[in-house]
Amino acid sequence: MADDYQMPKGELMKGKRGVVTGVANHQSIAWGIAAQLAAQGAEMAFLHLPGMERRVEALAQQAGVKLLAPADVTDDASMDAAFAAVEKAFGTIDFFVHAIAFANKDELKGSFVDNTTRDGFLRALNISAFSFVDCARRASALMPNGGSILTLTYMGSERAIPNYNTMGVAKAALEAAVRYAARDLGPKGIRVNALSPGAMRTLSLAGISGGRGMLSKGRSLSAMKQDTAMEGVAGAALWLLSDLGLSTTGEVIHVDAGFHIMGFTEDEGGEA
Ligand code: NAD
Repeated sequence: MADDYQMPKGELMKGKRGVVTGVANHQSIAWGIAAQLAAQGAEMAFLHLPGMERRVEALAQQAGVKLLAPADVTDDASMDAAFAAVEKAFGTIDFFVHAIAFANKDELKGSFVDNTTRDGFLRALNISAFSFVDCARRASALMPNGGSILTLTYMGSERAIPNYNTMGVAKAALEAAVRYAARDLGPKGIRVNALSPGAMRTLSLAGISGGRGMLSKGRSLSAMKQDTAMEGVAGAALWLLSDLGLSTTGEVIHVDAGFHIMGFTEDEGGEA
């Protein structure tokens, strides 16, 4: 996949400043979103997992990023330092993108009941769901004029998808957290939403046993018989992060070529 998406240019994010987390490489969903935000005039900071600097630097440059700082969501000191750096660089922000998830590989295969450990479960929930609550608290403190917070989920929260297991439970918690955060932050003019893309070829997907199957099933079982396009995810993010999304909060928006609406397909017995 190219790292030079031709995202529609414009001024929808002109004058807006914000933070994008979760850029690991050119395949990251966060990168697609950042490329679209940059093409619409946003000023951004990237917060990345410590140790990823060298991978992320070139992309940050490409998007004209003002601040590149490490932030491990499991480490309060690292989060304190990262948000202090954002405040120093920008003062206030208008948007925040949370694109972070992790579960041990061993938990992402086979039987959910047999393979889920206490440590693995808590780690997945900590990094993939609690981190969102923590980020929403920290980001909203920098949004005195309102703003928009966005996270990324997957349909494995709603239905049992092979191998997704613990991550599905974490995503269910994440989606509930979106609704509670939207309720709390709504009166402050801060909107909180999630995008639920179909399977996409990223580092995270590679960590899931049978990730390729998720891609091919995502395509063949979708209404459109297509892969989920980065441009489609980035476009939906632009809608929610810009003023176009003015009255939308607490939502989980599927961007999956219609994967989630399907019952069963013709070749599974749908013909008359
Ligand atoms: P990715 O691997 O590019 O991004 C995941 C990011 O999480 C990485 O940048 C990684 O550094 C970061 N991360 C992990 N542990 C961290 C920690 N302790 N502190 C800070 N950052 C940490 O993969 P992606 O697919 O772009 O994932 C982004 C989001 O999109 C995730 O929430 C993922 O679940 C979600 N999503 C992915 C798909 C898909 O098929 N790829 C589909 C739907 C939703």
